[in-house]
Amino acid sequence: MPAQTSLFRCLKDNYGVLLHDPETGATASIDAPEAAPVEAALKAKGWKLTDLLVTHHHADHTDGIPALKQKYGCRVVAPAEVSRKYAFVDETVCEGDKVKVGNLVGNVIDTPGHTAGHISYWFHDDSLAFVGDTLFSIGCGRVIEGTPEMMWTSLKKLRDLPDSTEIYCGHEYTLANIKFAQTIEPANAALKARAAEAADEVAKRRPTIPTMIGEEKKANPFLRADIPEVAAGIGMGGRPAAEVFAEIRARKNRF
Ligand SMILES: [Zn+2]
Repeated sequence: MPAQTSLFRCLKDNYGVLLHDPETGATASIDAPEAAPVEAALKAKGWKLTDLLVTHHHADHTDGIPALKQKYGCRVVAPAEVSRKYAFVDETVCEGDKVKVGNLVGNVIDTPGHTAGHISYWFHDDSLAFVGDTLFSIGCGRVIEGTPEMMWTSLKKLRDLPDSTEIYCGHEYTLANIKFAQTIEPANAALKARAAEAADEVAKRRPTIPTMIGEEKKANPFLRADIPEVAAGIGMGGRPAAEVFAEIRARKNRF
């Protein structure tokens, strides 16, 4: 049976998301910005929390974990940067590891850059990827602990996932990201279409998430740093893609 998801808002602009296996009843929360919205989402669906999959150590992704673990006794799976910082982790994982939520099987992908040990979870059979603060719709996370080169390598790994992969990210930043992206590729038709679609979703108070890898590849400038026209468009024709990416990221930081 296919996996089910439930997406909901937390804090100011974070997303929480639940992943549910209808066959076994197992339910995972991907990160936990705060406990109350996770509990409310569980209650609304009639699901019970069995697992908590953590992407990185930032407080707006982990603050809700202690209360949820205490209430549900759920297993906490996380990268080493989280186990080093907090005692609540049961299982430390890295690239190459598989994580099961009931009968759903996820692959761990190392996606450092935003933090040094950030990971993503890819559920191949269900075409779902939970990418934390690495990739956003038409954007990417700030490079806080890693280098731009590291982040570019991480983004390429996510870009290599099948086009039909649904991407769940940690924040609703899409409209602001689109505004910036249009300064990099003002003539990109896919980006224009996405701008109209996202504006409509936000006006209807609907999330712009999940997005799809195939769509992001056409419109997200941070996944397009190795396209000659994109490099040329910002005066960096012929330069290595990691440098082009670093320049686009630097411009976004100043935007
Ligand atoms: Zn973060």
